[in-house]
Amino acid sequence: MQNKEILGKSLESWKQEFPILKDLAALKETAWRNPDKRPIQEAAAGCPLTMADVEDASRRLDRFAAFFQAAFPETAASGGILESPLQEIPSMKAALEQEQACPIPGRLWIKLDSHLPISGSIKARGGIYEVLKTAEDIALEAGLLQLQDDYSILTTKPFQELFSRYSICVGSTGNLGLSIGIISAKLGFRVTVHMSSDARQWKKELLRSKGVTVREYDSDYSAAVAQGRKAAEGNPYCHFVDDENSRTLFLGYSVAALRLKKQLEENRIIVDEEHPLFVYLPCGVGGGPGGVAFGLKLVFGDHAHCFFAEPTHSCCMLLGMATGENSRLSVQDFGIDNRTVADGLAVGRASGFVGSLMRPFISGCYTLSDQRMYHMLSQLADTEGLYLEPSALAGMYGPLLLTRSPAFQEYIRQSDPDRKYLSQGSPNQGDQPQQTTPTWLSDSTQLVWATGGSMVPQQEMEAYYQKGKAC
Ligand SMILES: *Cc1c(COP(=O)(O)O)cnc(C)c1O
Repeated sequence: MQNKEILGKSLESWKQEFPILKDLAALKETAWRNPDKRPIQEAAAGCPLTMADVEDASRRLDRFAAFFQAAFPETAASGGILESPLQEIPSMKAALEQEQACPIPGRLWIKLDSHLPISGSIKARGGIYEVLKTAEDIALEAGLLQLQDDYSILTTKPFQELFSRYSICVGSTGNLGLSIGIISAKLGFRVTVHMSSDARQWKKELLRSKGVTVREYDSDYSAAVAQGRKAAEGNPYCHFVDDENSRTLFLGYSVAALRLKKQLEENRIIVDEEHPLFVYLPCGVGGGPGGVAFGLKLVFGDHAHCFFAEPTHSCCMLLGMATGENSRLSVQDFGIDNRTVADGLAVGRASGFVGSLMRPFISGCYTLSDQRMYHMLSQLADTEGLYLEPSALAGMYGPLLLTRSPAFQEYIRQSDPDRKYLSQGSPNQGDQPQQTTPTWLSDSTQLVWATGGSMVPQQEMEAYYQKGKAC
């Protein structure tokens, strides 16, 4: 085993070529700056997806608003639009700064996708969107629906009968299955969710109670996806939601950016050259955080700085991006076990599609320990009364790392090459160090993307909380 080759190279030569692999393999918390990030004009010019694609997805979600109001009464208040709150968390900021003896620049905000309607996680964006698009395509093709119709008719019998001839199939660590299962069953599709061993029991039970077929595997996410793909193969009446490669999912996630822009405006938060926006996104296979970050880059350009956050045990995106191999490498290749309490992020091999598409857009990646996620879970509950699942805390470490990690310090220096925004301080006198805090950082918005948690049963949440208090 010692001498096993990985993509034709020995473990030793991998580590020599990419020293960061030593830290990843040792499960150390690690930060990586993306040396291939490009200015937005250049990045967007080389990208196969554009703002027109994001806007098309947004209009499709608008068309379905009438359906949501009819089918899910809890969405009536928001006019059938599934959206989550944006909130400032000053008490959490103070607690983190005090405990870590490290300043967080700017103001600290949280985006509560944990509280999205219907499935309580970021998957309510991409996962639900892909099922809606599938339903719309089928209904248009059948001649039962026109784009300008009131989509509440999708709840009626002819549509239920139409969709019952089709099945939807997906592999998941839990939350994607939950989103896709719930919306598919509601529309009348037959639906099968292939669950990895990380998936929580309550998610399986909830899905079964809605008539969803749940297949359980004693293996990880990649294997569950492969099973789903195989089951759907060659069947034109079965749509497989491919979390590893789907552009549709990705675009569903990206719509978040258009909506966040409005929320920032409502809160009088400026994003421009002197007021940058830093966003920290928990990352599993990459579609969710990738799609959101992509949308943010199109909306805010060079003023948005996006980072992916992963558990030390499931650092697939950092591994793929730092080596440039994307999905050709898995964490298991380097002896990393892909076992983490952050079940939404328990992915050993990242999406190759997202890794390569996001290469010129993303600022960096970092990893953090399960213990740190647990601890911040309790801390956020105590300071702000917000209860999230462990995965959703991965982004919370980013604002501290920005000023603490050498890799991200270097990122800050590179982002401000003319040192335009360094505060002047007094001229260098003797050994008096010059003040070097970039003022644009103190005028920045730090945004933590909280990706799930509101549907976690109370007993489970209490167990997470207690665990977090103990570490
Ligand atoms: C799925 C998920 C993510 C990450 O999304 P990917 O598309 O897998 O990268 C983050 N947080 C939670 C809670 C999730 O369920």
